[in-house]
Amino acid sequence: MDLSDIPLIDQHAHNLLRPEHARTFAYPSAFTEGYAAEVVTHHGQGTLFFRRSMREIAELLGCEPRLEAILEARERLGFEELARRCFQAAGFQTILLDDGFMPDQVMPTDWHNRLARTYRLLRVEFLAERLIQETSTWPAFEEAFRAALDHPDPEVVGFKTIVAYRTGLAIETPDWEAARSAFETLRQQVARKERLRLAHKPLNDWVVWRTLEAAARQGRPVQFHTGFGDPDLDLRWANPLHLRPLLEHPGFRRVPFVLLHASYPYTREAGYLAAVYPHVYVDLGLAIPFLSHAGMAFVVRAFLEFTPISKILFSTDAHLIPELFYLGARWGRRILGEVLEATIRDEDLTTAEAEQAAEAILYRNAQILYGLR
Ligand SMILES: [Zn+2]
Repeated sequence: MDLSDIPLIDQHAHNLLRPEHARTFAYPSAFTEGYAAEVVTHHGQGTLFFRRSMREIAELLGCEPRLEAILEARERLGFEELARRCFQAAGFQTILLDDGFMPDQVMPTDWHNRLARTYRLLRVEFLAERLIQETSTWPAFEEAFRAALDHPDPEVVGFKTIVAYRTGLAIETPDWEAARSAFETLRQQVARKERLRLAHKPLNDWVVWRTLEAAARQGRPVQFHTGFGDPDLDLRWANPLHLRPLLEHPGFRRVPFVLLHASYPYTREAGYLAAVYPHVYVDLGLAIPFLSHAGMAFVVRAFLEFTPISKILFSTDAHLIPELFYLGARWGRRILGEVLEATIRDEDLTTAEAEQAAEAILYRNAQILYGLR
């Protein structure tokens, strides 16, 4: 099936790196989740994703499929023209950006409106870290955090948590005293002018809990990082099955939980949760386009084994460079087209049903979930 005319909603991606930082940034590092020098300069260039992507980017930029030639072509096009070319070829109608990733080095979120209609996802750990620096007492912090969640910028359509990265998805009912004492510890770090990093389980769990309470009041989705990511993550604690107590919690039944990154490699586990809980959704980002062709087809097939079509969302998790938006869009359409074609041959879906499934996954489900026009 050719899905190239279907508009896309990218329900989870990140801002582009500002041109002055793009110059000092090692381009191959955008294609790997590792950051050790040997991974960026050597092993990371041996993935099927890297090899395939070099050819595809070269074709888009009209140069030879070599790293040096691509870097030259990028320099020649310049920052804005490169971004425009990638987004034009990608065909996004709307993108949802988590702008709490490398916030001091990326383009402002509104700037991306020139490329596609842009909305924001509020990264709650980044918000909490900022407010810990700005408020000196626990009651003031509690109040400021609540106010920020209840009255976010009108462009915010959902919350995003990276608790999987910090202290894991086995979130417990907050211990208020322990959360408060973690706050005091972090305040002492602020006083010593140390770099602040919110990775104290009682306080991280408190942040997620407060976010879910706010999301329940507003009926707003919460995106959870799940599954693979950079080595800051302990993958054992990124399995979405750890979320069961939250999913069962009566107070959070109205909160849509969006499990990002196909929870890879816990893809079938995520698909199961989305099949049995009315408020759980799964997402294809990072798995598309970072896996091999067969790997990307695996995640889409794994979800379709058991998960309702209305629960599957498309995203790219593109970050820093516009090429990742292009590759994510291109492979999202292509893989979904191939897998849906097989569902017609298998007599799981009719042609008309497969076409509707493609539209649902590529934009309609996200449009409904986030209330986008
Ligand atoms: Zn992301």
